Amino acid sequence: AVTAGVVAVQGDVSEHARAIERAGESHGLDTTVTEIRTAGTVPDCDVLLLPGGESTTISRLVHREGIADELRAHAAAGKPMLATCAGLILVSADSGDERVETLDLLDVTVERNAFGRQRESFEAPLSVAGLDETFPAVFIRAPAVESVGSDVEVLAAWDGRPVAVRQGPLVGTAFHPELTADSRIHDLAFFDDDTVRSTV
Ligand code: GLN
Repeated sequence: AVTAGVVAVQGDVSEHARAIERAGESHGLDTTVTEIRTAGTVPDCDVLLLPGGESTTISRLVHREGIADELRAHAAAGKPMLATCAGLILVSADSGDERVETLDLLDVTVERNAFGRQRESFEAPLSVAGLDETFPAVFIRAPAVESVGSDVEVLAAWDGRPVAVRQGPLVGTAFHPELTADSRIHDLAFFDDDTVRSTV
């Protein structure tokens, strides 16, 4: 069985939990999803998800609650992590906003709310490396990736800007992969050959 943690200090959680469970099922794996609000739970997790929300708030809370160092340790152990939207902002090297104390787990810089006012929310059929068919990507006041380090693989781009990236055990998306019934992004982040992905 797989233990998946969803950081639940703020933002959407239950949709991610369902998507992880569906992705696990497709590999015949039972997944227990636990919500992370305080320190002490992350070390028990095989995979982690950092959801969207408000990155300034999530940043403040993960540092205040002592979760930030546990997230760093999880990544350092080579365990899979999926960071979406505000989560992507949090794991980046630089968000361009001093109110977000980034974890610097992913060698990218991001721009918050990068897709403009008229298009605060939109859905786009995204070509994603590793997926046979386009993914219905829902963007909500989404960040864009501005620059990527040499170890970062760009999995998808929209409007000429990276919106899904991978570096080792960590996958980041600017969009919300949990808002459709399609769990292929959770699948590619967490599972491989019917086991949990491993990069060690
Ligand atoms: N706009 C939010 C931020 O910058 C992210 C939005 C989201 O997670 N849907 O923190």
